Amino acid sequence: MQRLGGTFLPVFFLTKNNLNNFIAELTEIRESIETVGMTPTANQKYRKIKIMKDKATHYGTCQLCGSFQKLPGGVLASHGYNITWGSFVGTCHGSGRAPFEQSKAYVEAEIVKGQRILANLAPVEHPGYMVVSRMPQFLSDEDKVKKAAWEQYCDIKGSWERFIAYQVPRCAKWEPKELTPVVEEEARRDASKKSVKGIRNLARMRDLTKRELIKAVEQIEKAVCCWPALSYPTTANAHKYANLARSAGKVELADDVTNKLAAFKAAKANYDAAKSGAPVVASSL
Ligand SMILES: [Zn+2]
Repeated sequence: MQRLGGTFLPVFFLTKNNLNNFIAELTEIRESIETVGMTPTANQKYRKIKIMKDKATHYGTCQLCGSFQKLPGGVLASHGYNITWGSFVGTCHGSGRAPFEQSKAYVEAEIVKGQRILANLAPVEHPGYMVVSRMPQFLSDEDKVKKAAWEQYCDIKGSWERFIAYQVPRCAKWEPKELTPVVEEEARRDASKKSVKGIRNLARMRDLTKRELIKAVEQIEKAVCCWPALSYPTTANAHKYANLARSAGKVELADDVTNKLAAFKAAKANYDAAKSGAPVVASSL
């Protein structure tokens, strides 16, 4: 940047000659940047080879938190805690370990550890509702200590109990399973994304046809006296407005509502079907 700065300031007093110098220098800098980018250092080469070698071919489930992750080098990729059984922050200790499909050794060791911690956990007496419910700044020093001890006790006890309640039955029915190939999982995620997008579009289409229908009904309200038989247009009574218009000789308005009601019903049926799991019709995407 210093080189650039030195050249850059005189740009305000450019002559043809130093403009050419300036451009030449910029070109030189650009080329040197490109060269750096194109010739990787030994370390970069090593990292690239390592990444290629470790590149995940499969997905697997974390023994500890149960989340579904890639398996670079055959072990769980680094990931945060999922909150199936607790609310921990940071990297999950199941990262870098064998997936649950292949092993339950780590999680079983953790269950034993949890049971030991619970067995050795010194009970803390409930400090009373007034202490538990009050903000610390309104408590005496003694009560603050009691409150903190109680909260810590509940935290340890609760999280290990949740962990054990989740993991013991999970390990009891454990059996080795096939890992999921990355291509398969990515195809599933793509399809699911597309399907969500498709369902959203169908919902939009349903809302649009509904608005059009209500607008058409409002035209009948303007042309024909609907009250008190009909006072508020909905999708459910739109056909009644159409009948009223027809009997009053407003055939065009009645037909418009009938057509738009059919369009709304079709759009709603498409949306409901997609929502209940039927494949989204490609033409409606
Ligand atoms: Zn995990």
